[in-house]
Order: sequence, then structure tokens, then C-alpha cells
Amino acid sequence: MSDLYKNLIGGEWVEGHAARPNINPSNTKDVIGEYAHASRGQAEQAIAAAKAAFPAWSRSTPQERYEILKKASDEILARKEELGRLLSREEGKTLPEGIGEATRAGQIFAFFAGEALRLSGEKLASVRPGVDVDMTREPVGVVGMITPWNFPIAIPAWKIAPALAYGNTVVIKPADLVPGCAWAIADILHRAGIPKGVFNLVMGRGSEVGQIILDHPDVTAISFTGSVSTGRKVALAAVSGTPMKKVQLEMGGKNPLVVLDDADLKTAVECAVNGAFFSTGQRCTASSRLIVQDGVHDKFVDAVVERLKGLVVDDALKSGVHIGPVVDQSQLDQDLKYISIAKDEGAKLAWGGELLNRETPGFYLQPALFTETTNQMRISREEVFGPVANVVRVKSYDEALSLANDTEFGLSSGICTSSLKHASHFRRNSEAGMVMVNLPTAGVDYHVPFGGRKGSSYGPREQGAYAREFYTVVKTAYTLPV
Ligand code: NAD
Repeated sequence: MSDLYKNLIGGEWVEGHAARPNINPSNTKDVIGEYAHASRGQAEQAIAAAKAAFPAWSRSTPQERYEILKKASDEILARKEELGRLLSREEGKTLPEGIGEATRAGQIFAFFAGEALRLSGEKLASVRPGVDVDMTREPVGVVGMITPWNFPIAIPAWKIAPALAYGNTVVIKPADLVPGCAWAIADILHRAGIPKGVFNLVMGRGSEVGQIILDHPDVTAISFTGSVSTGRKVALAAVSGTPMKKVQLEMGGKNPLVVLDDADLKTAVECAVNGAFFSTGQRCTASSRLIVQDGVHDKFVDAVVERLKGLVVDDALKSGVHIGPVVDQSQLDQDLKYISIAKDEGAKLAWGGELLNRETPGFYLQPALFTETTNQMRISREEVFGPVANVVRVKSYDEALSLANDTEFGLSSGICTSSLKHASHFRRNSEAGMVMVNLPTAGVDYHVPFGGRKGSSYGPREQGAYAREFYTVVKTAYTLPV
């Protein structure tokens, strides 16, 4: 019988109305634990607890918030190997990737511990004589958070830490598939002394627990990361209730990596392989569209295929593994569906796309690279969210830029070139929230804003000091001293 991990509601650990096993995608016989599903009533209790805790927490001192966030950071960093292992075991990214992500979560908590102390306002001279005008930032209220499965610790961290730093209270529903890391953060915050009700964890299905968070009038703001289709539902729910909620959405991508004839080939191949296939391609910032100029196209494809042949796909926890399994059967089915669609559309499979058998039963897929594709094919337009990428051949930089921007998404984009002229032009004209030059489209710093344009994002940016745009509300105060 595996352990039962409970929800954290109003400072108490509470059993749910059901529980779901958290299964290791590298070995489906390995159950990490049973994770309690909150009932409708429990989700409502969590929101009530967050509402009741808000007045005191919103007036707590920056020092008090700093200390709790710093304690959480210290513990996450001290336990990064263990948390990274848990992450790899539940999500399937390799152990170094899991430890890297756990480290990032610790760094994010440290960053926002400092931000709690740095929150400032502004003062301007009024246009009216004798009047003072002050602009200050206040917390928003109860923030509901809904997170996806692909970054089980970093995404919860980059929502929870700023929310708490700026004086909000939190109700979070992590992805049902990977609740382990969010549970670990809840346990850490609880033991770090977070006051009752300030932070609440409710696990369960999106359509049940998530929907209650979306519909509840006492939730003031919603921070969501996930697919476009769910994001749209979140936005509609946020504005259709009374009062309307503040909303922030981070969604999918079909991120282009442009490779020009003058690129350093080794750099371009590394950017493509890392960006498209590492973390099993399950990154919103994955370089799933490789747009490659004619002169280097064949050499580039050969070199990428050579590199893919050398990659080890196996159990995420084994050493020497480059690519872990796909997260679950349903994502694997989606990956295989797109591989079949691409073939039917006339794309040429240059490498991979086969299911792999390993020592343990898991969702192992050989990374797939398609060539002879156009930007109009579904493989170029729709997010697969797996280790699948396609190459589109172009004649010129201008054509490359135009295809890079010809997408409904706009999260991240990249260019490999040694031309300063093209690099500068691309940085200015790429319609993406994040632009990389000679770097993979995935892989970002934790202290600067993260987010996209067009169908990839909606609302203020996450991370860095920019996070305060979402987690605070500005008050303009006029005073006439008499
Ligand atoms: P998803 O949209 O299926 O689920 C995301 C979350 O929403 C989960 O917690 C889920 O339970 C919840 N949910 C589902 N239906 C809901 C409903 N009706 N009401 C409330 N909540 C509901 O996405 P996923 O499969 O978990 O994640 C993959 C997607 O996330 C990809 O599209 C990926 O690009 C995107 N993503 C984006 C970013 C980013 O920052 N832009 C980062 C990571 C992942």
C-alpha cells in the first residue's frame, strides 16, 4: 500500500474524497504514492481559508514574508537532488534535468524573498498646487493557480513565490498527473511557518477542482499555465463571473529556430537537438519548427540525424540517459498521431518516431525528425508537445523570418547566424515574447520576464520583477495636507 499525500487546507492536512496514483512514466509498475483529490466542498473551504487569511497576510511585514520564502528556498536547495529525483520519477525528464529544475525552484523562492523587501511605489508632483500624488502597489487578494504537468516544480514556484512575496494568499491546483512536487512545496511552506490559510493545496482534476477555482467569486485573480484550449476556458470563466477576475495565461508554442547558411554548424545542431528534443520535447518553448536555409540544409539535417542516433532514450533515473519517456499514454498517443499525420501529409521521416522497449514498462519514443515539410502542414502549425520536430527549407533570411512569424503562437523564437545584421533584424522583427540568438529556444533565466505574444500568452508577464504587474494592483492616492 503506497503512502497517501493529503491536501493542505487552512493549515491542516486533509484527506480527499478520492485519490489517484502518481505513476512513474519510466516504469509504470512504480507508484510514487496516492494523491488525495479534493472534493468540491474542500476546494471551497480552501478558498474560504485563503480569503480569511488575506487581511493579516496582506499587512504582514516584508521581513516576515522574506523569512518564510527564504526558508523555503534554503530547504528546496538543500534537498535539490531528492526533489529532482521525485520530479524525474513523476514526470520523466532526466535526473540532471530534474535536479536543474528543482534548483531553479529554490532560486526563484530566493529571488522573490528579496522582492518582498524591494516592492516600491512612486511619488509625483501633482498638477494641482499643494496636492501630493502617490502610487503604491497592493496585493490583489486570493490568487487561484492552475499548473501543467511539464514543469512540476518550477511553474508552481514561479507563481507561488511572487504571490506570497507581494502579500496575496494562494489556492493552487497542480496538474493531476504530477502532483508530487507541488505537494513537496506545500509541505516545505507549511513547515517554514506559513500562517494558516495563506497557502492552500487542492489536488484533483481540472474539470472538477480547477473549475471551482475558476468560478468562485472569492478568487480575485487566476494564474494559469497549460494548453490554449483550457486557457480559453479559463479566460472566459474569469470574465463571465461577478466580480471579474484578473487573469494571466501562459499557453502553447510552435517555436521556430532559424538556421542561416552562415551559422556555426555545431552551435546550430546543438541548439536544435537541445531545443527540440531534450526534456522529451515537452516544453512550451521547444524548437519544434526548424527553418533552415538552402545552402546549409542537407549538412544540417545529416548532422542532426547523426546526433540523434547517439542519444540514449531510457529510464529517466538512469545515468547516461539523454531523453526520458513521454509523460503518459495519452501524450504518447498524441505524439504518434502527429507522426502519422506528418507522414500522410507527405513529410519525410529522416529519423526516429519508433516506440522503444526498455527494461521497465514505460512510454519510450525515439525522437522523430521530419524533413521536406512546408509551413502549412499540420506538423508545422499545431503543438505536438513531444520529441517531434520538422525542418522547413527556405531560400533566404527574409523567407525564414516570414515563416517564423507565420504561426498563431509567439512564445519563443531563435536564430543561428554569425551575421550581426540578421541577428539584430530578427531580434527586432520576430513576433515572439522571447528571442534567442545562437541559443536554444528553450532555456531561460529565472530573474527576467517570461512570456509570449499572440496565442501563447495573455496578460502580464511572469517571473522577475515584472511578476508584480500581475500579483499587485496599483493604487493612486491624492492628498491635500490641511
Ligand atoms: P492542460 O491545459 O491540459 O492542463 C493545464 C491545467 O489545467 C491542469 O492542471 C489541468 O488539470 C487544468 N484544467 C484542465 N481543464 C480545466 C478546466 N476546465 N478548468 C480548470 N482547470 C482545468 O495542459 P497540460 O497538458 O497540463 O500542459 C501542456 C500545455 O501547457 C502545453 O500546451 C504547453 O505548451 C503548455 N505550457 C505552457 C507554458 C508557458 O509558460 N507558456 C509552460 C508549460 C506548459
